[in-house]
Amino acid sequence: MASHVNRECPYCRHLIEHHIPLFDYALFIGPERLICPQCGKASLTGRRYWADLSAVWKFLVVRGLLISILMYGVMFFLLLAAGVVFVVDKLLDLPVTNEFASLVLLPISLILSAGYHGLRLKKLATPQPEHRNVAAQK
Ligand SMILES: [Zn+2]
Repeated sequence: MASHVNRECPYCRHLIEHHIPLFDYALFIGPERLICPQCGKASLTGRRYWADLSAVWKFLVVRGLLISILMYGVMFFLLLAAGVVFVVDKLLDLPVTNEFASLVLLPISLILSAGYHGLRLKKLATPQPEHRNVAAQK
């Protein structure tokens, strides 16, 4: 079973979006049409803006958002922890405790992740100026 989705242009096979994880809310929420950067034709995405989503799809978006925040949080945490351990331990010669890592770095990582996904979802949830023009051409 594939774990991600590639979206290609149905007219010229140009790969528009690739490696979207199956749980990603970007599969469900967003502009209904995409303009292919290569041939300029619009194709349907199967996505809808938040107001037009059914209850089941809203649930999928919320679930995808939570999974994404957790996954990115872990990723940010690993990056931060690696950076902090390098700076504090190697350069300053101070020990990094597990308590410091979990009490300080983990919340920072989750806040960073939630902020990133909050901005991304906000962009996808409502029509953007350039997409509004596309919708009007229907
Ligand atoms: Zn195309």
